[in-house]
Parts: sequence; C-alpha cells; structure tokens
Amino acid sequence: MEDCLFCKIISGDIPSNKVYEDELVYAFTDIDPQAPVHILIIPKKHIESILKVQDGDFQYVDAMVKAAQKIAAEKGIAQDGFRIVFNTGENGGQTVHHLHLHLLGGRYMEWPPG
Ligand code: AMP
Ligand code: ZN
Repeated sequence: MEDCLFCKIISGDIPSNKVYEDELVYAFTDIDPQAPVHILIIPKKHIESILKVQDGDFQYVDAMVKAAQKIAAEKGIAQDGFRIVFNTGENGGQTVHHLHLHLLGGRYMEWPPG
C-alpha cells in the first residue's frame, strides 16, 4: 500500500520509535501520546481495520495481542492494568486505515471514553 502511513513506518520510509518487532507485527510509540505509555501495535500486512481481518489473517491479531502482553510487562504496566483499543471506522475514531492496536497505560483510564 503506497500511500499508507503505517506501511511506510514498517518499511522505514517514515521514522518511528520502535518498541517491539517480530515476524508478524511491529510496535512503536504514538506520536501524540494520550497516556504515559501509548504504543501502537500494527500487523506487517496492510489490513484496513478489524472489520477487514479475513480467514488466514487472524494470526496477525493473535500476534498483536501477544505483543501487547509482552510490551505491557516490559513497560511495567501489566500489574496496575492498561487498556488496548481497536478504533474502527468513523464513529470509532479511526484516522489511520491500517489496523492498529493502541496500548495505553501508566495512569488510570477513565470509562466511558470520550
Ligand atoms: P487512530 O486515530 O485510532 O486511527 O490512531 C492513529 C494513531 O496514529 C493516533 O494516535 C496518532 O497519534 C498516531 N500517529 C499518526 N502518525 C504517527 C506517526 N508518524 N508516528 C506515530 N504515531 C502516529
Ligand atoms: Zn498499510
């Protein structure tokens, strides 16, 4: 996907602050953090949103959740708790159309969200 911001981050064409990487996923710090820890975990395949995950692609979702577990432990937020979010579509507040899991922590996360 030529015009996708997150595909360019994966390829290194756009710089990012890498937190974690494996065969299936890449994780980096959010440029506009909403919490002391705010990390984006993305699949290395261009998938538009959680709605577009097809049979055969769920391995990426698995890997994203596993990465969230590892990163939460490494960042020291696993014990106190954190939030993981897939913003989806317009009402979900999705602005980048490459699947991403927000990992937020380091403070109490209000509910309901804004
Ligand atoms: P969403 O609004 O759920 O689509 O999330 C997109 C996220 O990408 C936002 O939290 C942005 O702050 C973040 N973002 C946009 N551009 C960059 C970038 N170049 N590096 C890191 N994070 C970014
Ligand atoms: Zn992409």
